[in-house]
Amino acid sequence: METNHKQLVDQYNRRLNYLRISVTDRCNLRCLYCLPCDGIPKLLHEDILTYEEILRIAGIAVRLGVEKIRLTGGEPLVRKGLCKIIPQLTGLRGLKDVALTTNGIFLKENLEKLKTGGIKRLNISLDSFKRDKYKRITGYDGLEQVLAGIDLADQMGFQPIKINVVVIKGVNDDELLDFARLSLEHPYHIRFIEYMPLGIVSSDNSLHHVPSSVIKEKLGNLGKLVLVSKTALDGPAERFRFEGAPGEIGFISPLTHHFCHTCNRLRLTASGRLRPCLLSDREEDLKGPMRKGASDSDLANIFLKTAFNKPLEHARASHDSLHFPGQMSSIGG
Ligand code: SAM
Repeated sequence: METNHKQLVDQYNRRLNYLRISVTDRCNLRCLYCLPCDGIPKLLHEDILTYEEILRIAGIAVRLGVEKIRLTGGEPLVRKGLCKIIPQLTGLRGLKDVALTTNGIFLKENLEKLKTGGIKRLNISLDSFKRDKYKRITGYDGLEQVLAGIDLADQMGFQPIKINVVVIKGVNDDELLDFARLSLEHPYHIRFIEYMPLGIVSSDNSLHHVPSSVIKEKLGNLGKLVLVSKTALDGPAERFRFEGAPGEIGFISPLTHHFCHTCNRLRLTASGRLRPCLLSDREEDLKGPMRKGASDSDLANIFLKTAFNKPLEHARASHDSLHFPGQMSSIGG
């Protein structure tokens, strides 16, 4: 096995120890803030990284200091055989955490395999508790399936279970207290995410984010939010807890309180491109060189160069751009 003592550090001295891997660009939902209702052109099967390629890249990343990997998509659970590679991923020496982000539709039937594979942490996207509204947002009448998946995951001891809520003005901001109340009754982490205008969907100017500060103020009606201190592998959420609550509240504010200066992430797209910033379209191809016979050390050098050139901050942070390049469904959020 080749070893590499170099670490992924950018020119601003940020250490990049978190890799998000999009395992597919396909999704079984059409969330109005993520994908247009008639979808986008799908990648061809041969353009998507194989599981062997994903495992090889993950291994290289871990040897370069990546400690946390998140599997995302598209919808990761629509890709056949995903659960089979999870034990190989969680078994990578040096990797401390493998997590999964899912829309929860196929969660219940996969929980057993996810657990035996070594996944402990789940992020589940859920933007409404109202059946009709859930269907309007996602294009699918699947609320019951998601709730059943969350319930069983809780019973099976997954910890933490994070519920990702993308808050959109006039769409689901009337349910903020209902979501927050969940943290009073269950050990769930409710994470309110500011909607980001990305890709084709962003041309729909009717969608607007709700600033985290506004959400926080509304939640004040439920009680006092106490700051929770961050841990080493934490993401960008500002963490809080209502006094005495088993669960948490998190705010992810890419627009109003960008966290670029502490960003520790790299993203691998479903088509095998390494993307150093979600909101910038700079990417480096790994799949092409790999399929032309690049060695692990060649690929490690692409990683190191891409990491070094990670932008200091995203476009909105520096010049108030209204739309971001890229398609969330293939980058993986
Ligand atoms: N299919 C999985 C899911 O729904 O969780 C994983 C992929 S999805 C792209 C990952 C996360 O990105 C989800 O929590 C989703 O809500 C979030 N997301 C997608 N589009 C977004 C946008 N325009 N602004 C903010 N968050 C977004």
